[in-house]
Amino acid sequence: MPRATTGLAAAMATTAAMVTTAAMVTAARLVTTARLVTAAVLVTATAIVLPAAPLHAQEQGKAAVAASIEQRRAHILGVATDIWGFAELGFQEQRSSALLQEQLRNAGFTVRAGVSDMPTAFIAEWGSGKPVIGILAEFDALPGLSQDTVPYRKALMEGGSGHGCGHNLFGTASTAAAIAVKHWLEESGTPGTLRLYGTPAEEGGDGKVYMVMDGQFQDVDAVLTWHPGDDNSASPSHNLAVISAYFRFHGVAAHAAAAPDRGRSALDAVEAMDMMVNLMREHVPQTTRIHYVIRHGGLAPNVVPDFAETEYYVRHPSADTAKAIFQRVVDAANGAALGTGTTMDYEVFNGSYEELPNQTLARLMDANLRRVGGVTYTDPETAFARLLQKTLGEHPPALAQATEIQPFDTTHMTYASSDVGDVSWVVPTTGLSTATWVPGTAAHTWQAVATDGMSIGGKGLIVAAKTLAMTAVDLFTKPAALQQARSEFRARRGPDFRYESLIGNRKPPLDYRKSGTP
Ligand SMILES: [Zn+2]
Repeated sequence: MPRATTGLAAAMATTAAMVTTAAMVTAARLVTTARLVTAAVLVTATAIVLPAAPLHAQEQGKAAVAASIEQRRAHILGVATDIWGFAELGFQEQRSSALLQEQLRNAGFTVRAGVSDMPTAFIAEWGSGKPVIGILAEFDALPGLSQDTVPYRKALMEGGSGHGCGHNLFGTASTAAAIAVKHWLEESGTPGTLRLYGTPAEEGGDGKVYMVMDGQFQDVDAVLTWHPGDDNSASPSHNLAVISAYFRFHGVAAHAAAAPDRGRSALDAVEAMDMMVNLMREHVPQTTRIHYVIRHGGLAPNVVPDFAETEYYVRHPSADTAKAIFQRVVDAANGAALGTGTTMDYEVFNGSYEELPNQTLARLMDANLRRVGGVTYTDPETAFARLLQKTLGEHPPALAQATEIQPFDTTHMTYASSDVGDVSWVVPTTGLSTATWVPGTAAHTWQAVATDGMSIGGKGLIVAAKTLAMTAVDLFTKPAALQQARSEFRARRGPDFRYESLIGNRKPPLDYRKSGTP
């Protein structure tokens, strides 16, 4: 038996032992029944399909990064649980950001914190020269979604925030992948630069857009990313560009009964604008999404409101179309102000491009995901998942979806937006989703928060970390693939593309999650 295989077999044996311990630690956080976790099931769940010997450098690299993640499994899951507990909102993620930075510093990365005018943004780097491979890490939570790790609605803190999009897993898996790849680069003497981008405030704050505008991705050859989900897929992502804005109307206050003729209602203007936009829905492309809330509508019915504010999101699969539709929404706001005798100003608050797919990178990621395999539940986890599915409405998908890998699909559309979009227009980028949530769970729900804090989410995290790390090994060892990804990227962008953010030159809205009007 060649030496490499012997080494690998030993690594796998160690791995099996580590898995058992780590699984016990994680399960303990869960429900009491989780004590029944059996080592056998977990070992099967995390086994990697190994190619026949002899292994060449790339295969050795993939085995090494996967084994390194297994060895650190308990520690990695502990970090994810800590960030889940912090549940910090956009641009306020001091503890989460610091904890991830600490992992990277301890592993030998050089960390630059507070990049691009955002205190919680950071870039951790190791190595030198080409290629430069980036991995994205998010870590912000959502307001109002505080939830315990139980399969029924139970807030940990009434009105508190929660990780309803699994960014605690996102940041931790990406960091774990980067650390595993760094160890392999170092041990194998493979040249290149590895960067972990700590990107704050994905939920409405667009941290990545400010980093892109600031040129932080300029010399990067490829970017890898992932997102928690209810299935496992590495198909190229198609989603929506988004532009959002606050529309503020200013009127004249007056006694609503004694002197209504002297007043001009800012709330009337908001209602008129909303009605016009609602009529407009019939006359926009089918794939458009427009939504709004009224943030301020006056304080008392007996005072004509002199201030009112509405917030809009306009989304479309193409940034150019989204921009054109957004302009029509601005026209409606102007019309509403004219008709109600008020004045209007607006502030574009966030905006990101649709993701530019890259099939070359996506196929590499897909092959690695298939090799790593999906998420397999223990009996207690199955019981938890069944209870949770009862809260998801009729006919949720089979639990087996967590184990399966979705077919590679180049047309799949997700009706959501992400600031990863802007990154994908300046660097070839690809991502994956893993089943961190019980099948049928939607993002931004308490059900997602529940699994993001327990062993089911942890298993999805490990699948993501291994897949990201193995794909990074591909990129560091296959210059031809990087070249092909770059030519595909150029062809998809078109020769005339010049990056321009959808939010103009504004500064990061560092206080957008603090209460009150921004
Ligand atoms: Zn998210």
